[in-house]
Amino acid sequence: MSKTIAVIPGDGIGPEIMNATLRVLDALDCGLSYEFVDAGMVALEKSGDLLPQPTLDAIAKHKVALKGPLTTPVGGGFTSINVTLRRHFDLYANVRPAISFPGTKARFENIDIITVRENTEGAYLSEGQSISEDGETAISMVRNTRKGSSRIVRYAFELAVKKGRKKVTAVHKANIIKTASGLFLNVAREIAKEYPQIEFNEMIVDNACMQLVMKPEQFDVIVTTNLFGDILSDLCAGLVGGLGLAPGDNIGTEAAIFEAVHGSAPDIAGKGIANPCALLLAAADMLDHLGMVDKGDKVRQAIRDVMTNDRDSVTPDIGGKGSTSSFGDAIVKRVKA
Ligand code: NAD
Repeated sequence: MSKTIAVIPGDGIGPEIMNATLRVLDALDCGLSYEFVDAGMVALEKSGDLLPQPTLDAIAKHKVALKGPLTTPVGGGFTSINVTLRRHFDLYANVRPAISFPGTKARFENIDIITVRENTEGAYLSEGQSISEDGETAISMVRNTRKGSSRIVRYAFELAVKKGRKKVTAVHKANIIKTASGLFLNVAREIAKEYPQIEFNEMIVDNACMQLVMKPEQFDVIVTTNLFGDILSDLCAGLVGGLGLAPGDNIGTEAAIFEAVHGSAPDIAGKGIANPCALLLAAADMLDHLGMVDKGDKVRQAIRDVMTNDRDSVTPDIGGKGSTSSFGDAIVKRVKA
């Protein structure tokens, strides 16, 4: 296969972890070539624009992008670049796998949960926000639509089928937020009937939080609305040892952007000790998306193998004495084997 993807190295530790990730992709021989484009502070310094038009054009052209973390300057009225990208390309599904890896300080083993979060509506609207003149009352709006709920629930079931998953849990608060959350739940119930081979259950969000912490093994695929998905996916990342191993896939009909969930880590940028695994796992999800599931699995297995058998090469955040490049080298060696 031959395919070009847009690559945004990003800010802070971005270029370091991107370098390690692309070395692994190259070692896999998966026929990918890269168009490098800028966003974030790097782009602002070069072209005066946090998200230059050529970057948007490259993503639109190749339809798939691998993105390092971006720094959005604080103050100055800048909108988050990630939010802008999500809106521009209507990346409605935020897919966050949480998988246990050996050698982390996680409280649980054998967790493999995918959270599918609606990414464009719910409580995260730019409109409908107001605060009274006396500052005493603030109002914000929640809007769920049948279209938005249908496409996210369908995405979750299709993902479950594609990945051989057994169960989809719809998480909601329809008992209290009867209109907006109720619509989402009703749509989920309707669509679930089209997938009799996948077990479906529903859970109120507060109970879901408790169940995740007490009995996480009961979850497989979770589908939920924007705000609940934001919170639950970080909770799931915490179950497997934090953000260092958390990929985030942003999927739309016209484009898909794969990234690490963590930020640009300015405190360790340039020190060569950033853990490349979250971006590597995002790259593995990207390979799945491009139909190269065997290669995606190879990356995941190589990470697991290095974390079990080659502790000296892993980065300090997960208890090793290694560097971004020694971690990358060890993974390259295994995917080539
Ligand atoms: P952060 O995720 O960058 O860092 C939090 C802590 O985790 C730091 O101590 C950092 O050193 C550590 N860390 C993060 N990634 C690591 C890795 N791969 N290996 C080892 N340690 C790692 O969060 P922050 O400090 O709140 O944000 C820094 C900047 O990143 C901000 O400008 C923020 O806007 C941006 N950000 C971008 C994204 C994105 O582009 N997707 C996401 C979150 C934050």
